[in-house]
Amino acid sequence: MNTVTPPHRILLGPGPTNMPYRVYRAMTTPITGHMDPEFLEIMAQVGDLLRYTFVTNNKITLPVSGTGSAGMEAALVNFLEPGDDCCVLVGGFFAQRMAEIASRTGANMIQVDAEWGKPTDPQKVADALRGRRPKVIAVVHGETSTGVLQPLGPLAEIAHKHDALLVVDTVPTLGGVPLKVDEMKIDVCYSGSQKCLSCPPGLAPITVSERGAEALRNRKSKVQSWYFDLSGVEKYWGKERTYHHTAPITMIYALHEGLSIVKEEGLENRWAHHAHCMNALRAGLDALGMPSLPEPDYHMSSLAVVRLPEGVDDVRLRSRLLSRFNIEIAGGLGPLKGKILRIGLMGTSCSEGNALLLLSALEILLAEDGYLKATGRGAGAAQAALAQAAVVAAK
Ligand SMILES: *Cc1c(COP(=O)(O)O)cnc(C)c1O
Repeated sequence: MNTVTPPHRILLGPGPTNMPYRVYRAMTTPITGHMDPEFLEIMAQVGDLLRYTFVTNNKITLPVSGTGSAGMEAALVNFLEPGDDCCVLVGGFFAQRMAEIASRTGANMIQVDAEWGKPTDPQKVADALRGRRPKVIAVVHGETSTGVLQPLGPLAEIAHKHDALLVVDTVPTLGGVPLKVDEMKIDVCYSGSQKCLSCPPGLAPITVSERGAEALRNRKSKVQSWYFDLSGVEKYWGKERTYHHTAPITMIYALHEGLSIVKEEGLENRWAHHAHCMNALRAGLDALGMPSLPEPDYHMSSLAVVRLPEGVDDVRLRSRLLSRFNIEIAGGLGPLKGKILRIGLMGTSCSEGNALLLLSALEILLAEDGYLKATGRGAGAAQAALAQAAVVAAK
């Protein structure tokens, strides 16, 4: 008999992450119809839990059926029409994907580039938009290819001055990194289920402000994508409850459970926990001679992107981490291929224990290959950081 028997990996890459047992359990509960009154009640609760997690009162708040990229597609194709001006801030792989999707709508692209590993200077955005009428300003909050956390405040100001919609990718940040959609004046915000929310990949939470909803109503042309047209999807998730497509029932159960855990833990506690564990991991990586690619002011607390020591073969290192220690981390994309490691501490994968385990394993492998003279410095630095934080917390 052929059965699926995947190994239990320790997932410390940029997603997917390990899942809580409660989420697995939710996925083995019975399927109902997608119009079953019991299921409609679960959908309503998912909407409320998403509002809690995004920190928003937005009416249109729902999970798009598809991975994070489906959220990206929905967040752009619904708000752009041919001939609109669209500004995209591009400093990494996922921002490039946003620019690619936006350009396919027939919008006039205003691309503001930043060096990979650096945030985009808001002044550059303001300069590029002089005399233009952008409909959308699109930006990645946490760029998973570089580890850069882009400050959103100045961009929200620029967007609102131009009467543009601020569209923000929060795929690897929602649920792990401080984010308040309403307070930060974000108009369209999307994420993915498999990063800091620790659910299986396959759903993309999205929320749309009243300004965004108005832009939807005022479109001159139909949205090019039928499936991702939010006006149709909203009729199923909103009050009308009319069939659009069959909701991926099991995935919705999983998201409900994952978001319930976020709410039980408390968003602020969760943000603090990510910062605490990541701080220890960074101390250890620094001690091992693996400095962060972004400057400290632009660190993400869910993902560390660090430079590899001279000469270390990243493919060999990562494959040995996997085969010997069962740990997955990621390498670089595009111009950073072979130069960096990308290490996530997201959701359920984010723990003091995982930070210490990874550092210990890295030290053993680097020492075996002659890149470290002695073991213990990385894990030791992380231990010191954790002990120090405990002392500070007790005061
Ligand atoms: C992971 C990620 C995506 C894409 O999500 P998928 O689930 O792979 O489609 C988009 N943007 C960012 C910043 C990401 O980290």
